[in-house]
Amino acid sequence: MIVINDKKDCCGCCACINVCPVQAVTMFKDNEGFEYPAVDAGKCINCEKCQKVCPIGNSNNISCTEIPKSYAAINKDEKIRKKSSSGGIFTLLAENIISENGIVYGVAMSEDCRKAEYIAVNEIYKLNRLRGSKYLQCSAGNVYLKVQEDLQNNKKVLFTGTPCQVEALLSFLGKEYEQLICMDFICHGTPSPMIWEKYVDFHENESSIIKEVSFRNKNFGWKNYAINLKFADGKVYNKAHFIDSFMKAFLNNSALRPSCYKCAFKKLSRTSDITVADFWGINKVMPEMDDNNGTSLVILHSRKGIKIFEKLKDKMLYAETVLEDALKYNPAMRKSAEPNANRQHFFDNLDKLDFDILVSKYAKPKFKIKRIIKRLLYSVIKNH
Ligand SMILES: Cc1cc2nc3c(=O)[nH]c(=O)nc-3n(C[C@H](O)[C@H](O)[C@H](O)COP(=O)(O)OP(=O)(O)OC[C@H]3O[C@@H](n4cnc5c(N)ncnc54)[C@H](O)[C@@H]3O)c2cc1C
Repeated sequence: MIVINDKKDCCGCCACINVCPVQAVTMFKDNEGFEYPAVDAGKCINCEKCQKVCPIGNSNNISCTEIPKSYAAINKDEKIRKKSSSGGIFTLLAENIISENGIVYGVAMSEDCRKAEYIAVNEIYKLNRLRGSKYLQCSAGNVYLKVQEDLQNNKKVLFTGTPCQVEALLSFLGKEYEQLICMDFICHGTPSPMIWEKYVDFHENESSIIKEVSFRNKNFGWKNYAINLKFADGKVYNKAHFIDSFMKAFLNNSALRPSCYKCAFKKLSRTSDITVADFWGINKVMPEMDDNNGTSLVILHSRKGIKIFEKLKDKMLYAETVLEDALKYNPAMRKSAEPNANRQHFFDNLDKLDFDILVSKYAKPKFKIKRIIKRLLYSVIKNH
């Protein structure tokens, strides 16, 4: 049976609960708000399926000799692009699948905006719930079983998720389905859902209930993206990512899942068909593809990925790029986040301090201070 001795060895993908034939595995939340599996020894039949399905350790190490083709891409529909995190390429893929009577699986915020959840969408107007990144870990629950059922009924499926969720699905399915397309993204890591709830509590205490959230509002431009909260009383909160306390905790690596600091899925060759990301550095790599409204980096790993991208070309502006040039500005494709030195204090003080104070004390950026010291030293040396 599956036993987690080191939390870094469990990404919380839920493959083990989906595969268990006797429902002996359930997920429980630890004191940081992350889910881990627990096995009911009384129910367990020792089939070891839960260990074998685990994508960590069994991660599919595809050795690809060819560098995958990669593109800078922009959805020509400006309204959709404005609402998307990057260049709006996810929506183009999803619309194509739905137009062929398929189903799209992805992550939406719950009605009360307190958690992220997997939903299945088969109508284009419902895609707005999936659009945009939700920067907290979403429990996959029993989503892989649902995907399997759709595939067995010969439905086309687009499955989207973190790299670990995509590997978990493929490990669970254990066989190739021609009608399945998997899209992952370059992933910085996933923050604790409990930290998100604390942040929501903090804001709801100051105002009213949150009705809508966008983690990637582009009113100040794509590069200066902001978090945007809309409250029931009509108030709106909009703060740039480098000012807002939740985004600082996320980006300064105080709130990520332990396994994200030693991510097993950081690699160039992936089992997904398509990897999407923000094309950070586009202003340097290909300035003609940058209008500060969002450009996607699209990496095509498979024949299926290339085929669907070809079909969508007339709906986008695109230009082939050199992958290494793009990845210079997006190290998270191959490198895990470094834990913030104060991560433990951050979690220990979660119930003791106001959210803003907690973040200003324990979620400081490591690199800014280093950079300031470096600059000071440089100017001292230069002036002597
Ligand atoms: C936690 C997280 C970390 C990320 N880190 C990076 C990074 O370091 N560098 C980078 O370039 N890009 C990162 N991204 C990806 C980036 O933010 C965009 O999601 C991506 O470029 C797709 O943008 P889009 O405009 O095509 O579509 P969008 O409409 O913005 O994409 C939405 C898609 O993201 C999925 N999604 C949203 N939230 C989650 C979630 N919590 N878990 C699983 N799937 C989710 C939806 O199901 C949908 O498929 C991250 C995304 C997330 C969710």
